[in-house]
Amino acid sequence: MTDEITSQRSPSDPAKGFIAIAGNPNSGKTTAFNRYTGARQHVGNYPGITVEKKEGLAHLPNGTAVTLVDLPGTYSLTAYSLEEVVARRVLAEDRPGAVIDVINTPVLERNLYLSVQMLEMGIPLVLSLNMMDEARERGVVINAARLEELTGLKCIPTIARRGDGLDEALAEAVKLSETTQGRVEPLVISYGPDLDAVLPEMIQLVEKANLLTEQYPARWVAMKFLEKDKEILARARHINNETCEKLMAIVSKVEAHLKSTLNTYPEAVIADYRYGWISSIIKDGVLTGASESFERIAFSDKLDQVLTNRLAGPLILLVVLYVMYFFTIQVGQYPNDWLSAGFDWLANFVGSHMDHGPLKSLITAGVISGVGGVLGFVPLIMIMFFMITFLEDSGYMARVAYIMDRLFRFFGLHGASIMPFIIGGGIAGGCAVPGVMGARTLRSPKERLATILTVPFMTCGAKIPVFLLFVGIFFEKNQATVMFLLTLAGWAAALLVAFALRKTVIRGEPTPFVMELPPYRLPTLAGMCIHTWERTWQYIKKAGTIILGISILIWAAMTFPDLPAEELAVYDQQRAQIVAANQGQSEEELASLVAQVDNEESAEKLRHSIAGRLGIAMESITKPAGFDWRTNIALLGGIAAKEVVISTLGTAYSLGSSEDEEEEAHSLADRIRKDSTWKLSNAMALLFFTLLYSPCFVTLAMIKQETGKWRWLFFSLFFNLALAYVVAVLTNQLLQTV
Ligand code: GDP
Ligand code: MG
Repeated sequence: MTDEITSQRSPSDPAKGFIAIAGNPNSGKTTAFNRYTGARQHVGNYPGITVEKKEGLAHLPNGTAVTLVDLPGTYSLTAYSLEEVVARRVLAEDRPGAVIDVINTPVLERNLYLSVQMLEMGIPLVLSLNMMDEARERGVVINAARLEELTGLKCIPTIARRGDGLDEALAEAVKLSETTQGRVEPLVISYGPDLDAVLPEMIQLVEKANLLTEQYPARWVAMKFLEKDKEILARARHINNETCEKLMAIVSKVEAHLKSTLNTYPEAVIADYRYGWISSIIKDGVLTGASESFERIAFSDKLDQVLTNRLAGPLILLVVLYVMYFFTIQVGQYPNDWLSAGFDWLANFVGSHMDHGPLKSLITAGVISGVGGVLGFVPLIMIMFFMITFLEDSGYMARVAYIMDRLFRFFGLHGASIMPFIIGGGIAGGCAVPGVMGARTLRSPKERLATILTVPFMTCGAKIPVFLLFVGIFFEKNQATVMFLLTLAGWAAALLVAFALRKTVIRGEPTPFVMELPPYRLPTLAGMCIHTWERTWQYIKKAGTIILGISILIWAAMTFPDLPAEELAVYDQQRAQIVAANQGQSEEELASLVAQVDNEESAEKLRHSIAGRLGIAMESITKPAGFDWRTNIALLGGIAAKEVVISTLGTAYSLGSSEDEEEEAHSLADRIRKDSTWKLSNAMALLFFTLLYSPCFVTLAMIKQETGKWRWLFFSLFFNLALAYVVAVLTNQLLQTV
């Protein structure tokens, strides 16, 4: 059917002087069209189909004539009806220089749904806020100036039946058509974490195969694949079937995911986020009085009156975040203790069934202590993910972004920077890698760069075990509060650095921007469990692969080279002497005396190893921060992946203690508690250092990929390191004096 709708003009025709009138049915298009064209109109059908086509000439007050087309009335630009397909193809192929979007103002919100879609196609719009008389009668008050400010579109109040405002609307459209030649930068809105995650790859595929990119923006085409738009799919198949298959494979995957987690499908999500975009505009001082909208949206609006309220909103947000931390730590403590005890038992069990030697050391110190240290936090992290999932799936996360928007602009970032920050660990437990990728939704390159460079300051899931360990030791009574403050510190660092960057290396004006407020939905329990498990599994997988590999490498670096034979012989001699000198003593006392020598030997071995020497060499630099060589090794390993900080400390402390002592297992926390070199001052310094210092390898690689420049990779590596060092030194020095 659709192939018969041939285009009326070739796209190469000068678009100037050709304006289309679009809008929902019964918004007053034909009334306006008749007023504009008078008797000079031509009524026919689009070739081959029964959709009426009206074309006519309109004259501006200065005498210039423009061609006007009255498009069929539609609510949307999907391919559900012939009218929609016609309207879409006229817009894409006939390329009017500009479009007058006739809005039925009393139901503004619903009418803007079509406008969003035209903006996403990159069509220059003038909004004709029609039926103003009716709006007034119904008590709907529109602030057109505010609407202009937020959308960047000219908004002209009109009453088509009386002719009010029509000339102005047409004049603006002609002006727009002259400056834009029928195309503007398409509107990019976020479709939430699931779809935003796959869109960049889909867009790349569309661009590479040139799938309809002459007519539509690549992102729009990709979105049509997600919506399974029959017309676009059929046409794209003719161009490059292979790419279409690849795209559909991606779509099927997201579809299955959305189905299982949220019991929804891509098209519904896209619609929700489009309404979300509209919603946030309407709420931002555009509309007062009653406007009709759909039931689910009306319910969301009511909730938002409280949750996004200027005063109550931020307060509720803080309470929500705090409760989350509190709950995580209170509830998570128990399974966490059980699991740590389990790993200790395992290390003992394996240790007691193996012969002394490097293999035993590898298994107990390298693998079990290292990886176990990371895995021990799984229950805590799972509880936290569960709550974050609830916030995300319910739609509250979008409100978080909305509330924070005002604050962000002040620091030279975008409202849209929030999502990457949150994904990166802004609400603890994220990961900077998708966070950096998530910055793709930012349209302004400068704000995008500032976001990419500051995402790594967030409390990602890998930093959490480090925080939990030390917070558990030094702030036993106030764990939740301190964790919460650390997360806030991450935000503060990100914002301050962003502010500094935007004032220096990435200077530039902010871009106006609108946040999406999709309607709330009640997450399903099954969906939340799936989302939680997916994230937890990622964490576990990383512990079993990357972290395991690095742990073994670091274990080797901490074990070899062994002490020279002469030195080992000295320790053997000492042990023999002790045994000889204390013949009469009890078995136990003898063992404890020997253990002292063992301890000295282990510590000496560790210092003698490659890692030990490196860590010691670094001590002169890290001393002001209060880090000893063991911490240095751990932090060095942490550049590979932040979890390694914990696994390395685990290995270092278990290698550094004697093997006999090992029989009576001690968790890493116990060992650190006993170690008198750890004080509040250097522990806090370590926490801040971990929060701020160089991003992990994968994030660095992602920064290079997303910015396209090595410069920013090195910037992140060294600037963050320097910042962390300065903060750590200051923290340690200050806390020592108090
Ligand atoms: P179309 O479906 O968009 O072409 O809408 P029409 O132009 O056919 O208009 C639908 C109805 O709205 C008609 O009865 C018009 O007279 C009426 N109408 C159009 N513009 C206005 C207006 O500004 N105010 C009021 N009160 N009615 C209008
Ligand atoms: Mg009509």
